[in-house]
Amino acid sequence: MRIILFGPPGSGKGTQGNLLEKKYGFPKISMGDLLRSEVQDGTPLGKEAEAKMNRGELVSDDIVVKMIKNRIFKPECQKGYIMDGFPRDISQAQRLEEIDPASEEMAIEIYLSDQAALNRLGARRVCPDCDAIYNLINKPPKKDETCDVCEEKLMLRDDDKPGVIKDRLKIYHEQTEVLIEYYSRKKVYFRIDGEETVESVFQHISSLLDKELARSQEAEVTK
Ligand code: AMP
Repeated sequence: MRIILFGPPGSGKGTQGNLLEKKYGFPKISMGDLLRSEVQDGTPLGKEAEAKMNRGELVSDDIVVKMIKNRIFKPECQKGYIMDGFPRDISQAQRLEEIDPASEEMAIEIYLSDQAALNRLGARRVCPDCDAIYNLINKPPKKDETCDVCEEKLMLRDDDKPGVIKDRLKIYHEQTEVLIEYYSRKKVYFRIDGEETVESVFQHISSLLDKELARSQEAEVTK
């Protein structure tokens, strides 16, 4: 089962992906994290991606598709995987189907208004070492702007600065939101209200996923 999480920046895809990975054992593949780690390591690919990421623009399909191909065929992804931040437009959705046509899929939109996204991202802090995600308003670290796990000083991502957030939201509305119609047509689309608490969003996604997994198992048995 391929579980695609999409929604505007700040909707909680990363947080929910981590929780789902823990509960179901399907690895979470975060395109943003994969790209940030290339940037941090200063690889040629990271250098190519960095300027676009800092402006909140999408990195070229050739780069991201290559990274996805390297990841989804690892043995741990055989039973299923969770996609956070990929696909981000219809062409990426089609490429994904070409690469891995056999996998069943669910596409879950975590809906959030632009205003809520702006409020959340301005307060988001990340640990540069372990990638833990905090929010100064609703999930603050125990000690002032320091990671609870590794005690690193937390950072505001460059692309979480207010001007860039607006550009990212614009790109989301122009390029990613069309996935709602795309996956609705395929009858694999689900929508969750991302303004609810993390626990409540997680419960909703889990119950959807439980149903889909049960349905898929039944279909296997009756084959
Ligand atoms: P995220 O952490 O998902 O908000 O992604 C951070 C940035 O990485 C985005 O603003 C893009 O610049 C880049 N990025 C992430 N996923 C993709 C993708 N599927 N296609 C192109 N660029 C991406």
